[in-house]
Amino acid sequence: MRSKDNFKRFHVLTLMSVASIILIFSLGYLFYNTLSKNLLGSSRQFLGKQVEIASNEVQRRFNTLYEDLTYYTASLEGFYDVSNKEKVRSSRTRQLLNSYGDLVDTLFVKVDDKTWAYYLRDNNYFEKVQIEEDRTFSDPRRFIKVKSDLDPIMVIAAVNLDGFLDHYTSNHYLGEGGYKFYLYGENAYPLGEKDRSSGLSLSPNLWGEMQNEYLGGLRGVYEGDIIRIAEDGEKERLKTIVAQYPFSLFPLEGKFAIVFAQDQKIIISRLYNTYFLLFAGLFALLILVIYLLIKHGISIDDKHVELEKKSLEINRLFEQQTMLLQETNGFVYYHDASGKVNNVSENVTSVLGFTVEEFLENNKSQIVDRDLEKLQEKARKAIDSRNDYLSFEVSFVKKDGTIIRAKNFERLFYDQEGQFLSSVGICTDITEKYLAERELIKSENRLRSVLNSLPDIIFIYDNQGVYLDYYVQETDMLIGAPELSLGRHIKDIIPPPYGEKMENALIRASKTSKVQTEQMTLDLPSGKKFLEIRFFKLDDERMISVGRDVTEQKLWEKGLKEAMEVAEGANRAKSEFLASMSHEIRTPMNGLLGMIGLLEYTTLDEEQESIVKVIKDSGESLLVIIKDILDYSKIEEGKLELELSNSKFREELNKVINIFSGMVVGKELSLNLNISPIIPQWLILDNEKLSQILFNIIGNAVKFTPKGGDVSIKVSGEPILDKNFMLYFNVKDTGVGIPKSKIDQLINPFTQAGRGTAEEKSGSGLGLAIANKLIELMGGSLQIESEVGKGSEFSFTIFSRISDSEEIVGQDEYEKYAREEYKLSHISDKFPKEILLAEDNDINLKFMKLLMKQLGYSVDAVSTGEEAVKAVRQKRYDMIFMDYQMPVMDGLEASREIKKMKEGKSVRIIGLSANVFKEDIERAFEAGMDDYLTKPIKIQDVVMKIKESSGMNV
Ligand code: ADP
Repeated sequence: MRSKDNFKRFHVLTLMSVASIILIFSLGYLFYNTLSKNLLGSSRQFLGKQVEIASNEVQRRFNTLYEDLTYYTASLEGFYDVSNKEKVRSSRTRQLLNSYGDLVDTLFVKVDDKTWAYYLRDNNYFEKVQIEEDRTFSDPRRFIKVKSDLDPIMVIAAVNLDGFLDHYTSNHYLGEGGYKFYLYGENAYPLGEKDRSSGLSLSPNLWGEMQNEYLGGLRGVYEGDIIRIAEDGEKERLKTIVAQYPFSLFPLEGKFAIVFAQDQKIIISRLYNTYFLLFAGLFALLILVIYLLIKHGISIDDKHVELEKKSLEINRLFEQQTMLLQETNGFVYYHDASGKVNNVSENVTSVLGFTVEEFLENNKSQIVDRDLEKLQEKARKAIDSRNDYLSFEVSFVKKDGTIIRAKNFERLFYDQEGQFLSSVGICTDITEKYLAERELIKSENRLRSVLNSLPDIIFIYDNQGVYLDYYVQETDMLIGAPELSLGRHIKDIIPPPYGEKMENALIRASKTSKVQTEQMTLDLPSGKKFLEIRFFKLDDERMISVGRDVTEQKLWEKGLKEAMEVAEGANRAKSEFLASMSHEIRTPMNGLLGMIGLLEYTTLDEEQESIVKVIKDSGESLLVIIKDILDYSKIEEGKLELELSNSKFREELNKVINIFSGMVVGKELSLNLNISPIIPQWLILDNEKLSQILFNIIGNAVKFTPKGGDVSIKVSGEPILDKNFMLYFNVKDTGVGIPKSKIDQLINPFTQAGRGTAEEKSGSGLGLAIANKLIELMGGSLQIESEVGKGSEFSFTIFSRISDSEEIVGQDEYEKYAREEYKLSHISDKFPKEILLAEDNDINLKFMKLLMKQLGYSVDAVSTGEEAVKAVRQKRYDMIFMDYQMPVMDGLEASREIKKMKEGKSVRIIGLSANVFKEDIERAFEAGMDDYLTKPIKIQDVVMKIKESSGMNV
């Protein structure tokens, strides 16, 4: 990134430099061009001006000379032949020569045919010479002739035109490379001795160009070549700027012009000399600036980038270190050359509890000895082999005495000779990880040993179902050798359709983390086998399956299921049969017993009385059996519910025991009751059912214990949780005992020990079955221990709650009425009532009618519900004794109808039912019945209900 940037920057700089160089060059060239043009231009002007000035001067001088010559000539008139006038003439001539020494070297005066020549010698000595020969003075460049108009006098001035022009142009300095010419007629003559001798000439081109203008009297400036013959004799062409100014020198004939020229090269060379250094300097400066810029720019950039990178790196490292130290609970320490810790960061306090000073003082005493030795050995080895790094784990004893595990990482420094100098290290607390790892290792080992000891077939897989490991004790249940499955997929090993099923279960277990159970049937060499396989997660990466042979269980279950289905079916049918049968028997039995009850009140002789008694006893015991059957079948159907009430436990218990007192006396048995004092006075339980249980069990003990035997009853218990109380009952007798083989079956209905004795014959084999069911219903269980000939022991528990109320909820009221003395015939007198009987069963109807008659009532009777409703509509009744079950309209519905009627509102309806279950009673009240009586109807019950309806019990 950085080098790319740099490259880019370098590129831009180079481009910029090249551009600026080109710019400078272009500028330089332009500047140079303009300057040189300017210079040449000004040179042209300069030359034009100079040549004009020079020409004008020459012309002026020449004109003056001519005028003076004219004047001189005129002054000679009249003197030409007078010799004594010679003196005057000479002085004048001398004056003229002196004045025009630059122009005129000899002055000739021709008088007639005599000619005198006057000139000044070098020493300025004036000479006059008469010239004999006849001279023509024909050279137009050399002689100016002035003739006197009056006398034959002619003055001829010999002009040194070259010298004159040399002289007059010499003041005009053209500098180096400047050349001067004058033109006369067809020729150009160099001015100056040196140039004349060097054979300087105008190039024909230049001359051709110039000539026309000069001859036409026009001035001009030109560029053209001048030819010079160098010292070695070679011709040299010089490029020049040339200016010419034409003029005439009267009276000389023809055109003159002065020409000034300057060598262009030299003009420009001046510029070149002046500006070259400037340019070179500027250029050099530019190059230097560019060079510095590039170099500096890049290096600055490099340094900047490098610096930035380093500072970021340092920041990052610093942050990381701080974070790491905080997060990992660590500190930094420094060792000197001797291996002593000479500095430590403040974090040491949070890690080890020691302050920095304490840590430095105690130095290594915080490291557990065993680790310290190992560490020193390791450090020595690292230093000996000049290692740069050293890492190790040690246990530290913290200030508070606890031990932590720490991981250390050290950087070791050496001098040039390889001597250990110092080291810096980071120490982090890894206790948690260390313990977790140790625990993991332990648990892995535990798991391994557990898996190895299990009889099950265990396989370990990855999350996709590839076999990783196995723990198999016996290979009978396997499809192949377990080691062959490793690395292969479950679907490749287990044949279809189970392979896919197993794979799905494994994946389900892996996703849901819940145990997944699958079953499969395999045809193995050992036969058809049922396997149950459970898949569950071992850890995040591995799954485990536990397979078990359930062949036997399967077969057993199959048998059991079938058996159970049969038994359940039979049982249900039996219960239903028993229930309806007992109901059917009860109805006529009620009538029978009612009749017998009435018979007892008639006048009977002794024999008749004893017969009636037998009939009555048999009837009653038959009724008990029927009741038992009904109870048992109800229990079986699950229709029996507990009816809890608060009562004094001991009193209730004594009532039951008292029932047997007569029998006990008759058989000379000793009956002991032992109630533990731990049992609270008030307990909440279903007293009626407990009485029934005790009645059955104690009844058996009394029944099957021969004369003179012992029956002992022990009751104890213990409080369980909060206000619950578990009661323990133990009924022990010294009776005939029960054969071992029969004990387990006694709780089944209709089972007896099979002795066939009179005692047995009097029972139905239902008592214990009912007792057992009731015990279970009350939260307990029954145990039977017995030995034939020695006696039996029945133990059971039931569950109750401790009551904190003093209230008695019982049937004391009932007893009060029951005990009250009464005279049957006086009842109707005391409680006059209009009574209706609704009963479909003839015997029952007769019994009720007789009963009412005995009480002194004459009653109306109907045999259906409909008739009852009709009767109420026609007559006002105080009470209706209404049977539950009647054809057409039953008692419940009739009650409902009656209670709806205006006339029926005040009628008290007493239901009569063979059913004693709670739901029957509830149904009766719902239908509008005010009370109920359970069949068989007893006279006392009817009397009580009549009394109650007259407000006696309110
Ligand atoms: P049963 O109405 O016939 O007494 P049970 O279920 O109460 O019916 O008793 C079943 C049988 O168990 C009795 O017929 C008797 O053979 C035997 N049995 C019960 N209790 C005792 C006991 N205390 N001693 C000896 N045998 C007993």
